[in-house]
Parts: sequence; C-alpha cells; structure tokens
Amino acid sequence: MKNASEGNAGKAGPEIRVEEVSLRYETRGGVVEALADCSLTVPGGSFACLVGPSGCGKSTLLDVVAGLAPLQDGRIGIDKRPDGGPARLAVVFQKPALFPWKTVEGNIVFGLETQGIPRAERRERARRYIDLVGLNGFENAYPHELSGGMAQRVGIARALALQPDALLMDEPFAAVDAQTRALLQEELRRITAHSGMTVLFVTHDVSEAVYLGDTVFVMSKRPGRIIRTVSPSAEQRDRSSGAFARITSEIFDLLAHSAPSKATHGESA
Ligand code: ADP
Repeated sequence: MKNASEGNAGKAGPEIRVEEVSLRYETRGGVVEALADCSLTVPGGSFACLVGPSGCGKSTLLDVVAGLAPLQDGRIGIDKRPDGGPARLAVVFQKPALFPWKTVEGNIVFGLETQGIPRAERRERARRYIDLVGLNGFENAYPHELSGGMAQRVGIARALALQPDALLMDEPFAAVDAQTRALLQEELRRITAHSGMTVLFVTHDVSEAVYLGDTVFVMSKRPGRIIRTVSPSAEQRDRSSGAFARITSEIFDLLAHSAPSKATHGESA
C-alpha cells in the first residue's frame, strides 16, 4: 500500500492556528461579512475538515490561511519548518486548472521547474506521484484525454510532488460523480495517512468530512465561525457503521439549526 510519507519522512507538518479571523468583502451591493471571529487549530500532521453550508465562508478561510486573501482582522499562525524556514503549503482547488498543452507529466513537472529542482529529480518525482495517485500509464496523456476524476488526481499529484508541509484542499471532489468521489476519498486517506503532512480540507459534504477528518470543524451559516469541533472515532469514520450514520446526522442537525452568527447586523448584501 502506498502513501506519501516518502517526501516527508519523519517530519510532522505544522500546526495551523486561525485566531479570531473576521473578513468582509466590499461589493457593489454592499458589505458581505464572510467570516466573523473564526478560530480553529489544526494539530500538526493531522487531517482536518472544515464543513459548512455553501456560502458560509469556507473557501474564504482557506484562502486566508493560504495567503491568497488578505488578513483583515485576527491572526493566522503556521509553525515554521524544523530548519526555521516558513512551512511550504500546496493548494488543491475544485478544478485542477491543468495546462491543456502539457501532458500529465508536464503539468506536474512544471511546478517543480519553478522551484529550481533539477531535471532528473523532477522527472523521478513526477513519475513517483503519478504512480501514487494511480495514473500509471497516463504520463503522456493530455488533459482532454482524462476524465474529471483523473484530472483531479493529476491536480493532487501536482500538489504532492511539491512535497509540501501542509496541503490545503478546497472541495477537490465536488465536481466528480459520486462513485469516483468515494474512490478518491479512499485514496486520499491512504495517501495522506502517515505522511506527516497537515491537511485542511474544505467541504460542504458532511459524510466526506466525517470519513476523512481526524478533526471536523463545523461552521455556522455566514458569517462563518466554528460552532463545533468533532473528533470522530475510528468506528464513527467507518462508512458502513451505525456510528457513522449517527454522527453525520448529528452534524446535519447542527448545520440545519445553526443561526447565522451575530455579525449580520447592518449587512446590506
Ligand atoms: P463557501 O466556500 O463556504 O461556499 P465562500 O468563502 O466562497 O463560501 O463565500 C462566502 C461569502 O462571501 C459568500 O456570500 C460569497 O458570495 C462571498 N464572496 C466570496 N468571495 C467573494 C469576493 N471575491 N467578493 C465578494 N464576495 C465574495
């Protein structure tokens, strides 16, 4: 059985801390409060899921952690690497946005080129991660020759090939069919197990969150904040168990009855 431990052997990924983060978008229709006093801690080397209804601010929070959205209010803390350097982050989005004119291998190698990794290692790494995500034999295929699930696998291999300390994933399986999604979830669990990477995975799918997450952060309606932190047991993460059905339905109830957090007053959009 393969996992991604090779690149991160013996390392524990960084703890990620989100402390009282609030964020507003100024739009033509008025101010949209996306996050209000949102706090959470992802333990280093663990897999955390952030689950909440569509539009509650999950992607916004992930973007803030990734440094893709400005931090307006609050603090983000990400542990440094053991050598004192900043933690290396990789992001996987819902759509992998592959270069259509590059092969599977070419797409993966590209990010490594920009990091100045020598040619032989680039190729070796690309092959290794292609194998890891089950795309052996498709190294020379072009994106238009791939199914949605295969393209998403390339996106994951591309991120893993960077050998990041933390992997930030924004609904990576939302656009694939249910059967492929279940398979990809299983593979992601296998790949990340024992990898040492810290994973923050955003989803609106409660079952996905419980199956994947060592920790599940449940977010309120917009403006988003964490209303519950759940650490499902091994039994609760077993999709065929009654415990899985019970914990997912508990979280559904929580989401259904979660009131928007206080900061909606005065909002005009
Ligand atoms: P989620 O990921 O939970 O679906 P988002 O973080 O994408 O939620 O969005 C939270 C809220 O912020 C939504 O109401 C969305 O319309 C709004 N929003 C997101 N991005 C922008 C943006 N760039 N400009 C204005 N509003 C935005």
